Amino acid sequence: MVTRTQLTRLGLFDAKVPRYTSYPTAPHFGSDVGPERFAQWIEALPEDGNISLYLHVPFCRRLCWFCACRTQGTATAAPVAAYVQVLKDELALLRRHLPRGVRLSRLHWGGGTPTLLTPDLMTDLIGAIREVAEFAEGAEFSVEIDPNEVDEARLDALAAGGMNRASIGVQDFDDQIQETIGRPQGYEITRDAVEMIRARGVQSLNADILFGLPHQSRARITETVQKLLTLDPDRVALYGYAHVPWMAKRQQMIPSDALPTPQERLDLFDTARRLFLWDGYSEIGIDHFAVPGDGLSVAQSEGRLRRNFQGYTDDTEQALIGLGASSISRFPQGYAQNASGTSAYTAAVRDGRFATSRGHAFAGEDLLRARLIEMVMCDFRIDAAEIRRDYGLSREVLRGMLEDVDRAFDGLLDISDHGLFIPPEARPLTRMIARAFDAYDLSKAGHSSAI
Ligand code: SF4
Repeated sequence: MVTRTQLTRLGLFDAKVPRYTSYPTAPHFGSDVGPERFAQWIEALPEDGNISLYLHVPFCRRLCWFCACRTQGTATAAPVAAYVQVLKDELALLRRHLPRGVRLSRLHWGGGTPTLLTPDLMTDLIGAIREVAEFAEGAEFSVEIDPNEVDEARLDALAAGGMNRASIGVQDFDDQIQETIGRPQGYEITRDAVEMIRARGVQSLNADILFGLPHQSRARITETVQKLLTLDPDRVALYGYAHVPWMAKRQQMIPSDALPTPQERLDLFDTARRLFLWDGYSEIGIDHFAVPGDGLSVAQSEGRLRRNFQGYTDDTEQALIGLGASSISRFPQGYAQNASGTSAYTAAVRDGRFATSRGHAFAGEDLLRARLIEMVMCDFRIDAAEIRRDYGLSREVLRGMLEDVDRAFDGLLDISDHGLFIPPEARPLTRMIARAFDAYDLSKAGHSSAI
């Protein structure tokens, strides 16, 4: 049994820890990866293989105060139309370097607000993507949808283009919380958006909600989860609100004294978690829930759950290519990130170059540690046989690594020749346990609370 006193002593309520959507994490990317290296990594992909493609749209109609995404507010369509043209130019560049016969197993539009595009722009962009690569059989095309910024015509355009998955942002249904975080979005608006999305045959719907918001209480998060469950999402991401006003200036609008304490955050998470489990959802990794039969549930039960920049995924492709300002790509050789600012990104692409501004080429123990961290984050266990087989570690060396980590956590973990296992009661510590396998200096980056 792990007590709150133990969690406190181990530093759970004070620790700042990465979310580990990559390893090394983005603050450790450097300028040694540029457009040439990015092009080489694309050219090295196998012919006739599958890739995943991510497109980033860094515009929103309004800027919600809680949101730390790098995105620009726009009241007019012109900047979005201009940006789509640059994306199409970047797609044309990609086409020149992509080996023959490559197909898309996943296409994801994220942001920002991809549904800011007009129906014509959406159709145009989908056409440009299909000129680069056709969808593979069973491909998934998912779009992040803002319920405040969508209508029948835009959903028709997305459905005609093959959208079969969608993700909506909810955060919390409580009026006072919505007002405090600068994101008004009534239950009816969300429900209508869900109905419109489902009416177009979208098979899988994800909803994002947040715990740790100002004025959030056990009763309020209970009501939000109960309302959300009436919408029958297939997946739910229950993220912790990260209050980092020194990095995300908009968050200065949010009164710090209305935020729950770290101990209350754990309680809010537990409250929501229990409601999802009671309703039959499976727990996926540290912060997702999915109905049985959903791709994430199946991937978890089959040991195929992975972690990428969108969080948990059942996507096991070797290459994820990110296009658009600030997008990150992952290749077997490393990560490459586009220039974050829209103007620097646009200037590079208009100049006929990829906009890669930084990244990381895997070296030394990077891939070993990346997999150890991914196993901890996805499976709450480390499979020693897989690690020894894939990374050539001796039984003794691996055992020594795992025992060192166990010692740092008061012996709360189960260590054996089979590997490491995090018992359920120690799982609030999962990100901290993942950090114990991270060899980079984490002191320079501003990470979010461990809970
Ligand atoms: S929450 Fe969504 S709509 Fe609001 S600022 Fe962030 S990306 Fe834009």
